[in-house]
This record gives sequence, structure tokens and C-alpha cells, in this order.
Amino acid sequence: MTHAYPFLSTEQKKELSGIAQRIVAAGKGILAADESTGSMAKRFQGINTENTEENRRLYRQLLFTADDQVNACIGGVIFFHETLYQKTDDGKPFAQLVKERGMVVGIKVDKGVVPLAGTNGETTTQGLDGLYERCAQYKKDGADFAKWRCVLKITDTTPSELAIMENANVLARYASICQMHGIVPIVEPEILPDGDHDLQRCQYVTEKVLAAVYKALSDHHVYLEGTLLKPNMVTAGHSCPRKYSAQEIAMATVSALRRTVPPAVPGVTFLSGGQSEAEATANLNAINQCALHRPWALTFSYGRALQASALKAWGGKKENGKACQEEYVRRALDNSKAALGKYVSSGERGASAQESLFVADHAY
Ligand code: 13P
Repeated sequence: MTHAYPFLSTEQKKELSGIAQRIVAAGKGILAADESTGSMAKRFQGINTENTEENRRLYRQLLFTADDQVNACIGGVIFFHETLYQKTDDGKPFAQLVKERGMVVGIKVDKGVVPLAGTNGETTTQGLDGLYERCAQYKKDGADFAKWRCVLKITDTTPSELAIMENANVLARYASICQMHGIVPIVEPEILPDGDHDLQRCQYVTEKVLAAVYKALSDHHVYLEGTLLKPNMVTAGHSCPRKYSAQEIAMATVSALRRTVPPAVPGVTFLSGGQSEAEATANLNAINQCALHRPWALTFSYGRALQASALKAWGGKKENGKACQEEYVRRALDNSKAALGKYVSSGERGASAQESLFVADHAY
């Protein structure tokens, strides 16, 4: 076996690990605001708002200009390409604004899922072509971390060995390209919650998927200290008749991570995956109270579970801007506490805190 030819200098490694650690500093997580234009269409449809570039800018401006209380809760914000080049009403680039608030700017760089031939409806994620050049540009334009989402499905026949291998490899290839440009890759192998499988089956599949991902990252010489993992929590399928407690979910999740994720990885930033806002906070809190040793920061990188109530309160109306921001700030504060295992439920008042945010076969 050959040895690894060094591709990152000591300074580059220091920069990457420093960025990753800043994003997941104590009590901080990520706001995933990188919904593609197509995903925004679905979100806006729910509030009867037209999906125009200006409405997307107005909505995201509300999130990015929310009260200073969020500065201690949000370590990073993931942007969609369009958002990286948008500005506030008074002409300040969103990326600059977010940075000035002490948050790291991230960018979604994958180009969505495509079918994997010969499988039972499984997919891989495209976007490697030109990624080397795009990362160089995004770094110049202010992005210090990136996200790439792969999707795996649990059925009686999936995930297949092919889907596990292909998605692990494409994530590793993406991660190595990011690191060459000083961009921290968030590695996201999302196992969808669709199905009626139980908690144990999700744990088994999550362990197999994560083991393959870390083997591929090793094969591609990825510097783990300069990465973050964005997995699903281990939960039962959305239509599983048996319901599990937050403590059971936490034990299954932390067990799966301990068996597969090296301690060199600084942080695990969970996606919310269709959990309600209340569930996503309670489960994260239980994970951080779990009695097992946890060598990584365990925090949030939520899209729907940070934004659902905020979006509803806004309803596309200018006069509701403040209400929208208040909902977002509340979710950010609660999840920040949960990331420290210090959240105490005070009864959920949010516009949709208890509402399931499940979307079948979720695209992003
Ligand atoms: P959800 O938290 O809505 O699952 O989205 C997070 C995300 O970024 C998925 O890629």
C-alpha cells in the first residue's frame, strides 16, 4: 500500500479545524437556510406566498437580521447559491452581515439527487463536475464551509450495498475537494425517515452507512479534524406503529455514532428530518444528556425545525416580520440549550412547534 502524499499544510489543517470548531462551539449549531429554489416553492406554497427571488430575499433577510440573542446560538449558516449573492435592503451582502455577527458562512454545493440504475428507487447525488473550480470561487466569496447531501432509504430491500458504497464515495470525493480550498465539508448521509421500520432497524442501517462513509473518507485522505458530520438521528420510521421516547432515541443515536464516528471529528450536527420543532429540540437535549461518553460536540443543523413556526408567523407579509423573527429566535435559543443538554420544556407556544414537518421522500 502506498502512503498518503501530504496535500494539506500545517496552516491549512489549522484553518480547517479552527473553522469546524467555531461552528460547533459550546451552545452553537447551524441554521440550514440552503433550501433550493424548488424547496422554497414548497415552503412558500404552505403560506400562500409567491416563490420569487425577492420574496426569498425578504424572508432570509428576516432570519439573518434577527435579534442579537441568536449570535450565541448559531455558529454557521448554510446558504443556497442565490443567497450568497443577495443583499439586505440597504445593500450589505448577506454573507458579510452573517460574518459580522460571528457566524461562519456555508454553501450548499451538491446539485441534488439522481436515480441509481438497477436499484429499487435509490439515488446518488450529483455535482462533482466543476466542483473544484466552484469551491475556489465560493471561498473567495466568503464561504468557509460547505454541505453536500446524500440520501439513503430504508425498505426491506434497501439501502443496497451499491447505494451505500456510491454515496460514501461521492461524499468523500466532495470532502477532499472542499478541503483543498480551505472549505470545511459537512458530510451528510441522510437516511430518510420514510417507512414503518423500528428503531433497531434504523440504528443498524445508520451504523452500516456511517462505517462506509468513514472508510471512504479515510481512503480519500480526508482530514477528519476539518470536517463535520450531518446525520439523521436514529429514529423509527415515520409510520412505525411503536413510538419511542427521546431517551430511547438518544441511546440508539449515540450508540450508533460511538461505533462508527472517530473522535477526531469535532462535531455532529443533526438534521431535523421532518421531526416537529418540539421533537427535534427534545431529542437533541436527550442526546446531550445520554450517559454514554460522547467525544464530539452534538448539535443541530436544522432547516425545518428552526424555521417552520417562523415561516408560518411571517406568512409572506411585511407587517409580520417581527413575529417571524421572534419565532426563529425562540427556536434558536431552545436548540442552543438542547445542544448543552440544558433545555427544559416550558410548553410549546410556537405556531407549529408540535406539528409534524415530515415530507415523504424529502428533497432539498
Ligand atoms: P431539515 O432539518 O429540514 O431536515 O434540513 C436540514 C438539511 O439541511 C437537510 O439537508
